[in-house]
Amino acid sequence: MADERAKRIAELIKPLRVKPGSKVNLGEDYDPGYKADSLKKKDGAELLRTGIALLADYQRRLAAQNTYGVLVCLQALDAGGKDGTIRHVMSGVNPQGVTVSGFKVPSAEELDHDYLWRYACRLPARGQIGIFNRSHYEEVLVVRVHPENLDRQQLPRAAKGKGVWERRYREINDWERYLTDNGFRVVKLFLNLSKEEQRTRFLKRIDVPEKNWKFSAADVRERERWDDYQHAFSQMLSATSTRWAPWYVIPADRKWFARICAAAVIVHTLMEIDPRYPTVSADRRQQLLTVRRELEDEAPKGAPADPFAAKEANEAKEAREVAATKARAARNGAARASSRAGRPRAAGRTGSEA
Ligand code: AMP
Ligand code: MG
Repeated sequence: MADERAKRIAELIKPLRVKPGSKVNLGEDYDPGYKADSLKKKDGAELLRTGIALLADYQRRLAAQNTYGVLVCLQALDAGGKDGTIRHVMSGVNPQGVTVSGFKVPSAEELDHDYLWRYACRLPARGQIGIFNRSHYEEVLVVRVHPENLDRQQLPRAAKGKGVWERRYREINDWERYLTDNGFRVVKLFLNLSKEEQRTRFLKRIDVPEKNWKFSAADVRERERWDDYQHAFSQMLSATSTRWAPWYVIPADRKWFARICAAAVIVHTLMEIDPRYPTVSADRRQQLLTVRRELEDEAPKGAPADPFAAKEANEAKEAREVAATKARAARNGAARASSRAGRPRAAGRTGSEA
């Protein structure tokens, strides 16, 4: 059953993974409107619920094991659906196990450090899932499309000249490899939106007053640089989809499908980590049983020695009784049906014969 689920998830996300070393042309290679044939929107809600439940279960184990951490990097153009994806996909997990960090235009303090510094400061701890809402990839996206950002970074001349983007790709790959080698898996999701769907979502942000705050004039200026961004994304996907941290291009025009895919990639990563609850040694178990006996001896008069065990046993007994009643009713129903089948029914009779 678990294997079957793992297989389905792996199949769903396989076409979205950018093969390490492949050369991506975003516009030609990935369709923002793609949807797996086998999936219908009406089944989508149920599937997302399953994904969210799986995520919550694995997150508990990840926290208990406290060996691995997971960093989820979300990249998209404006209105790509990053906020909604985080809200939906992480809705079932324990808030104590998740941190979400958004990255905007760097502050003066951040500009005084190397460009990866502010991202390193926000990395998840072991046992945690950290989500980057925009990430270190902005350093080869917005900074590339608007090179004046690079000027503000106070870099030595050699660090901003020719070959700067190739160097940054290499540095980012090395950094992610270092993190992976040390127990931190890096999951990279690019929400791939079409220009027409962005236009629709912008208009919605203007038409619905409650959404006005989400829209800024800067968003329209960025839209004018659409082709430059597509180019920067293509280069980034080609250069930084690695064996240890591959990119997934999530078709983002259908929000419900994008959320399922995002959940699936994260669950897939957790399944690969397969975190386990720690078990205790035989000695420690013996100690626990001794303490158990002491606690049982403290039971007040009339109280069960172990209220938890008593409640569990009671619930199990009730469940058995319910199952037995149901089985009896089913047997009686079947017997009645077969005896009815043996004699003709009186015309016009609709009432119960029981
Ligand atoms: P939003 O996500 O809509 O709140 O916008 C955040 C803005 O910050 C976006 O326009 C990003 O392009 C911008 N931003 C994020 N990281 C950087 C960076 N490293 N350098 C310059 N601008 C950035
Ligand atoms: Mg914005």
